[in-house]
Formats: sequence, structure tokens, C-alpha cells
Amino acid sequence: MAAAGPGRWSLRSPALGVRYPVADMSLGVSARPFGPAVYRDRLRLAAREAAAHDLRALLITPSIDYAYLLGYLPPALERLTCLVLPADGVPSLVLPRLEEPLARHRLGQLADELDLVAWDETQDPFAVVNGRIAAVDGVRRVAVQDQMWATFVLRLRAALDPVDLVTAGACLASLRRVKSAEEVDRLRAAGEAADAAMHAITDERLSGRTEAEISVRVRTLLLEAGHDSADFAIVGSGPNSASPHHEPGERVLGPGDAIVLDIGGTRDGYCSDTTRTAFVGEPPAEFAELYEVLERAQAAACDAVRPGVAAEEVDAAARRIIEAAGHGSHFIHRTGHGIGMETHEEPYVVAGNREPLQAGHAFSIEPGIYVPGRWGARIEDIMVCTADGGERLNRTPRSLYLVA
Ligand code: ZN
Ligand code: ZN
Ligand code: ZN
Repeated sequence: MAAAGPGRWSLRSPALGVRYPVADMSLGVSARPFGPAVYRDRLRLAAREAAAHDLRALLITPSIDYAYLLGYLPPALERLTCLVLPADGVPSLVLPRLEEPLARHRLGQLADELDLVAWDETQDPFAVVNGRIAAVDGVRRVAVQDQMWATFVLRLRAALDPVDLVTAGACLASLRRVKSAEEVDRLRAAGEAADAAMHAITDERLSGRTEAEISVRVRTLLLEAGHDSADFAIVGSGPNSASPHHEPGERVLGPGDAIVLDIGGTRDGYCSDTTRTAFVGEPPAEFAELYEVLERAQAAACDAVRPGVAAEEVDAAARRIIEAAGHGSHFIHRTGHGIGMETHEEPYVVAGNREPLQAGHAFSIEPGIYVPGRWGARIEDIMVCTADGGERLNRTPRSLYLVA
């Protein structure tokens, strides 16, 4: 499948998988929307969240939250496009007049359930937004999308004065963290595509190539396997394998290198993310032991997944084993992150997160052991919490890959 246009996400942190929305972002032509009933429901539930959070309205500019609620992603421009979702009442979509045809085309039936409010080039869109937010006695807060540009936030704050602006993240995250069966299907398809790419790269000869060359090759494989975009391809070799978010560089791989391969992309609007560790040649006993500990820790965390178990318990299941083996100080990050339309989202599998897992939560299980200056290893699978346990969406073997 062809790649999305260049610069689909012009700014991103490849390592973190965090994508910063910029001017030309879009979900890509191949991200199919779900049926209109899905978005009708999401809008209704988000409004209910707004009411529960004591908000007059949510203001959502083009972002993954916007795409989640409306099923398409318009270009994020200097001209304001903003979904005004009141806690009570009909949502409005305030948008530049020239964007209205695209919005109608992409919204389809859903357009009938929104007030489309097109503003002209000479109008002040912030005053238009203000006009769409009804005053509610005793409620003085309005929430803005977490990644809304500062230039919009500051102008909204002036236009909405004396309303208090807060962030909308918590309202959206509580919806987005629980995946529907249709969403899990897309995550599963993305996981299969990542597995195909992982399978292919670990079959290739890696020694004699640079990390950067292998990273480019992985991106090609991710696209060939059906991703619409290849979002990241971490290749950390030798001592670089001890840097969890290493940026692939000019280091040439050779015998005795551990290699951490952490790869992922987006397929049909949903993300993949999987890590396997390879070794060039026969690993020394010390590395084999370390890897055996990691494999047990990762499996224990996966096995701990079931509804009602606190997210931090899953982290502890892996950490306990790594600590008992004396590698506690070498496991320097949380065990996992939620995944969906974004690579990193809620819920986070980390100490301190007591939230109980629910069926439909999707997240990574990715413990690692990193010995600075020497080597490192990580194993990462995406898991979905199901009614009676967990489903692993990555199926490639979790053992150490011995490569040439
Ligand atoms: Zn990460
Ligand atoms: Zn990863
Ligand atoms: Zn991850």
C-alpha cells in the first residue's frame, strides 16, 4: 500500500511516537470512518463527560480528538476550525467558509446533526465560537483540546472572558481508552502488519549495515505490510541498544551486537508498536541470562492482564522479576502505554496508576533491561484486555532472534 503524502505528520518524535499536529496533517485517504452511529454516540458521550466535569463546552480543534469525534481530520490551518460541543445542546462546527464543502463531504449524514457555522474571511471566528457557547448559571469553565495551538487558546481566552479555560484531555481520554470491537479489529490488523515487518527484518542479514539503513528498510517493510504510514523504526545496536529511544545512526552492525528493533505505523487510523531484540551471532551467557529474565518478566506482565487488575499491578508483575534478578536499576521506564489512534495514550501501565483495567483497554507491555555502555533488550507486545484476560495482538516469537 502506498505511503501517505510526504510530511503527513511534519513534526514528530519518532522515538516517542508522539505526533505533533501541524498544517498538513490528515488521517490519510485510506482511514475509513466508522458508521455515523459511532460518531453520534461519541459526541453524546463526550457531552456527558463535559457535564460531569462541570464544563459548559468542549472546544476541539483539528487533532486526533477531533478525528475521534467526527471521523475525519481537516487540515490544521491558521484559520480556525473548531468543534463546539456543549454539555447540553446541539454541537456546532465553526469553520472557515472554504472548508465547508470538505466538511460536508467527509461528515456525510453526521452533518445533519451539527450546526455548521461557516465564517467569512473578514469575520472574527473567536467571537463566532463565543456566540455558540450558551451561558450556564454557576458553570464558568470551558475546556480546550490539549494540543490546541497557543495562538488559538489565547484569542479564545480573550473572546470568552471571563470564562476559565481548562484542558479537555480527561473528558476525551475516558472515552478513547476503551476500544470498541471495531477499533480492536483495526488494532489487530495494524499488529499483524507490524508482525509481518518484524518477521521480514529479522530474517535479513543485519551485520554490515548501518542502523539508519536498517531503519529505512523497516519503514519500507511496514508500508509493504499494509500500514498507511511508517511512524517509527528504532534500531539500537551494540551499546546503543541500552538507549530505549535511540535514534538510528551511522553505526555499522557486527558480531556480538544486541539489536533492539522497535517499530510501528498507522493502518486505517490505528497504530501498531512492537519490539523484538536480536543478536548478531551467538550471545554470551551473560546476555542470554539477562534475556531470559526479560522474557519471563514480559510474559508475567501479559499474564497479569485481566479486568479489575490495577494498571500498576501489571507493571509490578514485570518489575518484580527484573528486580529479583538484580536488574531493577536497569529497567528505567514504565511497563507500557495505551495505544489506539495515537501510539501513546491512556491508560499508562505504570506504578501509581491504580485504575482497574477494563475490557477494551489496549496497551503495550514492554519491559526492558538496559546496561549502560554495553547492551540492552526489550520485548513489546500490544495487549487488549478482554472479558476474561488479555489478547496479545503481536504474535511473532518473543525469544531472542539470532541473526547474521
Ligand atoms: Zn516508548
Ligand atoms: Zn515500541
Ligand atoms: Zn510502545
